[in-house]
Amino acid sequence: MIDLTGKVAIVTGGGRGLGEAIARKLSSLGAHTVISDLNKEAIEQVVENINSSGGEASGFVSDVANEEEAARLINETAERHGKVDILVNNAGINRDAMLHKMSLEQWRQVLDVNITGVFNTMQPASIQMRKQEQGAIINISSASWMGNVGQANYAAAKAGVVGLTKTASKELGRKGVTVNAICPGFIETDMTRAVPEKVWDMMVGKISMGRAGQPEDVANCIAFLASDQANYITGEVINVGGGMVL
Ligand code: NAP
Repeated sequence: MIDLTGKVAIVTGGGRGLGEAIARKLSSLGAHTVISDLNKEAIEQVVENINSSGGEASGFVSDVANEEEAARLINETAERHGKVDILVNNAGINRDAMLHKMSLEQWRQVLDVNITGVFNTMQPASIQMRKQEQGAIINISSASWMGNVGQANYAAAKAGVVGLTKTASKELGRKGVTVNAICPGFIETDMTRAVPEKVWDMMVGKISMGRAGQPEDVANCIAFLASDQANYITGEVINVGGGMVL
């Protein structure tokens, strides 16, 4: 039985989609969960839902692509709660285009959020977790990190997340901090609902289990990695994709 009672968790991009499901899961297992997002109304809705169903959550508006806002998220949470046990770097965007049509703006937007955004929270979190001598960082990469047509920017950023995760795991292991990456496959959220039906069917055709994943499928894996039961698992890249092969 996974028990996160007494732990303090931060979930970036927690206002909807995977982030919302992760926040719900962690708080249902007892963690006080700080839901961070760009959208204040979305945060308030998720916080209210969690708190009214017996969990404990609070909100924090923060753009992970902004170095100062990301640092405030980590440092103010640590001040308020005395520690940060769990950091889930989930915030992410896509701006898909074939490489020959991709603009520098599309490249930069995705890199700013999906990789620099992860650095921006991990840097202050690593200072805090070193002091605590414990913690779990879980970064959301993607099956696309291995390369996916139309996603040069996204794949580059998500591959960067793998390198960052593995490096941080080596630096922080002796301090009792675990750092792992999750690669969701094709999960039903606003991000994937936006694809044309033909693409949806094509993606599902690549999945052994014959269906898109649900956000809860990813949240369940994160809950385990965030728990003390996973204290000896670090530097790993775990696929949660129903056997999807891109
Ligand atoms: P989503 O439904 O589009 O939700 C993304 C969330 O991130 C939104 O709440 C969004 O806020 C927030 N966000 C975006 N930019 C942000 C920023 N700069 N600072 C803070 N929050 C920000 O996407 P999702 O499908 O849940 O994806 C979540 C993560 O999983 C992403 O990292 C994505 O790359 C990854 N992933 C998803 C899939 C999939 O199949 N869905 C597969 C592999 C990996 P707003 O609501 O304000 O825009």
